[in-house]
Amino acid sequence: MDIKFVKADVLKEKPESSTLGFGKFFTDYMFMMDYSREDGWHDARIVPFAPIALHPASTVLHYGSEIFEGLKAYRTADGSVQLFRPMENIRRMNTSADRLCLPQIPEDLALQVLTEFVKVEQDWTPSAEGTSLYLRPFMFGNDETLGVHAVHNATYVIIASPVGSYYKEGINPVKIMIEDEDVRAVRGGTGYAKCGGNYAASNRAGERAEKKGYSQVLWLDGVERKYIEEVGAMNVMFKIGDEIVTPMLSGSILPGITRKSCLEVLRQKGYKVSERLISIDELAEAMQNGTLQEAWGCGTAAVISPIGELCYKDVKYAVNNGEIGETTQMLYDTLTGIQWGKIEDTFNWTVKL
Ligand SMILES: *Cc1c(COP(=O)(O)O)cnc(C)c1O
Repeated sequence: MDIKFVKADVLKEKPESSTLGFGKFFTDYMFMMDYSREDGWHDARIVPFAPIALHPASTVLHYGSEIFEGLKAYRTADGSVQLFRPMENIRRMNTSADRLCLPQIPEDLALQVLTEFVKVEQDWTPSAEGTSLYLRPFMFGNDETLGVHAVHNATYVIIASPVGSYYKEGINPVKIMIEDEDVRAVRGGTGYAKCGGNYAASNRAGERAEKKGYSQVLWLDGVERKYIEEVGAMNVMFKIGDEIVTPMLSGSILPGITRKSCLEVLRQKGYKVSERLISIDELAEAMQNGTLQEAWGCGTAAVISPIGELCYKDVKYAVNNGEIGETTQMLYDTLTGIQWGKIEDTFNWTVKL
């Protein structure tokens, strides 16, 4: 598809890498294209970054038809820019679209517009240690009616934000509160889709945890509140004895690309890995008898986030004395090494621009 380019009158000054943070600064341009049942995807364009005008009855504003993705462009030592497993994000976006009755984007079109957009904005990829250009593709239903039905019109947008190192003062293990009241998702719901609504429903528990001094919540399943699902907006893994365990993809868990990559690295290195149900009772027992050796969250933003303390029903358990464990560190070093091109990518995960 041809992509129209509308040049910005002035380009922004790029921020200092020490001030980046997460999602605070945006690049000069954004990608947009529109969908209608009659014309399919059309009017692909890269235009100056600006507010989007919406009809006040637009579907997304009333019924939450929105999905998104998150991936990063990394600057390597030789100055080139690379993406990490972008086809995984593209496929997952179509899975999310299917769940929310939003239109599919053919995979080759999605990859074309993503890479052309990143090529336009590649100078925004910062080069300081641990920094990257975060890419946020998103799609929303845009019918101009209050009638409730599957979406007929949609808009797809990609914006980009240079982001700082997640770990400015070294990797500090986080404190996690196990949430036994609110649930994030249920089987048959939208848990496996990356949609804004899941986040809206998670905020209350997150706020409560923060007030008590915890950085995230550990979600339990929505039916029995017994099985572990995810931590905040990350997948979660545990090292219990000599086994690495992570909740299996049951429909209510987001199939993370970092999760998948961790499993592939662990299996390649010969670790014993299981994707299965893990009950809170099993975890509590492992915490009490000391067989829980390590715990970590995994997701694109932080890559690997070690868990140093878990709190369940007001009882606090330290994990690995609140320090990062060996396996957690190995996964962090391997994934970030591949992403920033510091170690050989034997998995063929990176895609150069
Ligand atoms: C995006 C996301 C993840 C992590 O997925 P990655 O592909 O590894 O970034 C995990 N859980 C939730 C709820 C998410 O939205």
